[in-house]
Amino acid sequence: AASEAFEEVRSVLDRAGDSIVIGGRPGPAATSELIETTDPGTGSTITSVAAGTAEDVDRAVAAATRAVVDWQSFSAAARGRFLYDVAALIEENAQELATLETLDNGKPFTESLFLDVSIAAETFRYYAGWCSKLGGQTPPVSPPVGNFFTYTRREPLGVVGLIVPWNFPLLIAAWKLAPALAAGNSVVLKPSEMTSLSAFRLVELIHEADLPAGLVNLVTGYGPTAGQALIEHPGVAKISFTGSTTTGRRIVAASAASLKKLTLELGGKSANIVFPDADLSSAVQGALTGIFLNQGQVCCAGSRLFVHRSIHDEFVGELESAAKAIALGHGMADDTEMGPLISVEQRDRVESYLAAGAEEGATLVCGGSRPVGNLAGGNFLTPAVFTDVRDEMMIAKEEIFGPVLSVLAFEDEDEVVRRANSSDFGLAAGLWTSDVKRAHRVAHQLQAGTVWVNHYNMLDPAAPFGGYKSSGYGRDLGEESLLGFTQTKSVWLGL
Ligand code: NAD
Repeated sequence: AASEAFEEVRSVLDRAGDSIVIGGRPGPAATSELIETTDPGTGSTITSVAAGTAEDVDRAVAAATRAVVDWQSFSAAARGRFLYDVAALIEENAQELATLETLDNGKPFTESLFLDVSIAAETFRYYAGWCSKLGGQTPPVSPPVGNFFTYTRREPLGVVGLIVPWNFPLLIAAWKLAPALAAGNSVVLKPSEMTSLSAFRLVELIHEADLPAGLVNLVTGYGPTAGQALIEHPGVAKISFTGSTTTGRRIVAASAASLKKLTLELGGKSANIVFPDADLSSAVQGALTGIFLNQGQVCCAGSRLFVHRSIHDEFVGELESAAKAIALGHGMADDTEMGPLISVEQRDRVESYLAAGAEEGATLVCGGSRPVGNLAGGNFLTPAVFTDVRDEMMIAKEEIFGPVLSVLAFEDEDEVVRRANSSDFGLAAGLWTSDVKRAHRVAHQLQAGTVWVNHYNMLDPAAPFGGYKSSGYGRDLGEESLLGFTQTKSVWLGL
């Protein structure tokens, strides 16, 4: 399945091979240094991408600076039509994009197709509609003298830098690109050095939709070089970043000199709480997708599962049998439910948490091993469930970013809210109950940017997504993300 998929996208792999995209044209980077791209399901090399430099970023910013003038000269409705065209092109090329995503990232093909690619298209469509609705206000001003008509304009920022991670390479690029463009900005996009292929193809499609050349530029490469150059570039007005909290802190520091605007979508250690009055079979399913979707490499993963003591043993029993039944395999194989981790290093990191959990006295109920046989070449790890986890353990506090669930028992509502909120992170939370009053009461008390009730991991372009506390600031998606790519001007007119 992997080699067939490889053949299907070979021409894109060849084009992406060593190219960055500046001014609408793929071309070589300023250095010949390449970064190998491997298929995490087999360990074999599929292509390489250019290690872009500060010089490349500089050229990309120059192209974006020229293109933004054209873009802003289009009517709002015309900008919207372009973005609708991009959405349609994503859908027309869905199979190819999903294949690239699965080969590059490892996630099951059906997930790439129905989640990543399809929400990416919907995100462009959602923001296409916003282009003609991004208006200002007419505040009723009452100054001590004179009579004024005052209105506000939502103006674009100019050139924005978008830095995205490897876990949802296409989707998160779309989350940022669509509102940035809808608000009238131009873009330099820096994908993760581990997963640049779908971003490359998306930028090609954007040019097929006839958007001005240079409106969206792609510089592949490492964070500390290409990423850092983008953050420090004086021609870039804002950085919208998704990635780890550690890198987020570096970005805040590096952006201080130029006082760039920042949106930061960072890590999480989200609580998923099962009350005893919940529908237990849906809660088991929700707990599983909450942690094992995308091999646990999800910023909002429900990695701390709080289960009421009265149902704990029965619940864990069901979780264990369901986790053991998850079919591991190459993302392109038909029956695969869970793919490999992104890299050898990421699997080593997750394994170090498995060792820490055991050392600190948690009980490994299932999983956490490397499968043998035909999966031995990939970065696979079987889905792991720990019980007897205490709040102070590393596996309950730190973001593991892998298929490892920590189950914690609780006794009452106040206690579980306090413990759920005791984390430094605050990205998301879930709760399962049939008591409608409790659902709202607890949802309001949880310190998290998203709370799912009787569900987990549901997203839509219309609903803002982002963190409380160390999970970041600013929001992706919804109207809020669009406004984050604008600056407000008040215009005063004496009457
Ligand atoms: P990462 O922070 O290592 O890298 C993210 C991006 O930043 C990459 O493109 C990388 O090249 C770049 N980068 C790294 N160092 C940089 C620097 N010094 N300057 C500029 N750019 C730099 O994160 P990752 O390992 O790719 O992704 C996993 C992390 O992302 C997890 O912590 C996860 O929780 C987080 N994440 C958050 C969200 C969210 O919406 N909150 C969504 C997905 C992932």
